[in-house]
Amino acid sequence: MTSFRTLDSADLSSKRVLVRVDLNVPMEDGRVTDATRIDRILPTIAEIADKGGKVILLAHFGRPKNGPDTENSLAPLAPVLSAHLRRPVAFARDCVGEAAASAVAAMKPGDVLLLENTRFHKGEEKNDAAFVAELATLGDVYVNDAFSAAHRAHASTEGLARKLPAFAGRTMQAELEALSAALENPQRPVAAVVGGAKVSTKLELLGNLVKKVDFLIIGGGMANTFLAAQGKHVGKSLCERDLLDTARSIVEAAKAARCEIVLPTDAVLAKEFKEHAATRVASVDQIADDEMMLDIGPRSVVEVERVLSACKTLVWNGPFGAFEIKPFDAGTNAAARLAADLTDAGKLVSVAGGGDTVAALNQAHAAQHFTYISTAGGAFLEWMEGKALPGVEALRA
Ligand code: AMP
Repeated sequence: MTSFRTLDSADLSSKRVLVRVDLNVPMEDGRVTDATRIDRILPTIAEIADKGGKVILLAHFGRPKNGPDTENSLAPLAPVLSAHLRRPVAFARDCVGEAAASAVAAMKPGDVLLLENTRFHKGEEKNDAAFVAELATLGDVYVNDAFSAAHRAHASTEGLARKLPAFAGRTMQAELEALSAALENPQRPVAAVVGGAKVSTKLELLGNLVKKVDFLIIGGGMANTFLAAQGKHVGKSLCERDLLDTARSIVEAAKAARCEIVLPTDAVLAKEFKEHAATRVASVDQIADDEMMLDIGPRSVVEVERVLSACKTLVWNGPFGAFEIKPFDAGTNAAARLAADLTDAGKLVSVAGGGDTVAALNQAHAAQHFTYISTAGGAFLEWMEGKALPGVEALRA
């Protein structure tokens, strides 16, 4: 990507390279339960080290409130990272001050050092100039490989990028290239799938997408609000009645932008929200008072397939149904597998992101077939909302 400075143009040999990474991995009893984020940063670390740079890793962990605490320490992650990287990883018990300075001073080209949680200092989230200056004394060059933290203008994500020569790491670069291919310069027609629980959490996203995509496929609980806005009776289904006017205005905006909104025409209905509850499939015109729509039905799946088969690009956030509970995962699974097959056949560029979406696509065994899966939650959504991400803006050439 030409509009961002990448490692291709960075002079790294013998340089102290401050690398912002995402190590905010899920842990249970001191063990990492999902190492996806660790594996994603390995190429950037290895490349900088192999080019003779001194790799100084900056990261946050959790949400510490009052300075250092053991619960949010990054110390346990140094040996885990070392095992994945197959190189030694040193640890400094602070990210600024004497502990950090002496650890950096001891480094040789190719060494890797992890600094303690940046959020142990209040200056991190405040993007405080004095804290940025302290961090900056530790490095000659700054690399950001943490797209997932780029929606926040913090010291280690934005402040430092304005202070030192700044470059996108390889994972950040891949993310920016994939996202650009999906919404900025996509091959048309473009479809967006937006599912999940509520319209209220995705208003800005829907508003932005109707201007950018040719088809907006709405599923999940939020489809109920759109159906209710059309005057349909949705029974006990999750529905945000205070947003019916908002739903109507999104439909109007879509019409004006020539974006076709695709809503479910049938649904899997149940009276209880539990595993293997008794279900029936019915048209969205035939929902009883005591029934809930918990997944899209087979006719809707066929319609989704028609749209996806006609498109060249797909961007996806949110499941079609309550996928954590069987059988309400069927609609999401079918659509995910079709998108995976179309991608494998070279007919579709498919990009998906957001916490639940990644879980749903993994469950459907489809994720590894997508063109790109973003592990970023908030940052991915803000990008889909069309917002500028401060950490990304600071890397523009
Ligand atoms: P979100 O975080 O907004 O992407 O929402 C994901 C959640 O939406 C998942 O936990 C799903 O179980 C839930 N969900 C999807 N469809 C429905 C539905 N029809 N009724 C209730 N919850 C749903």
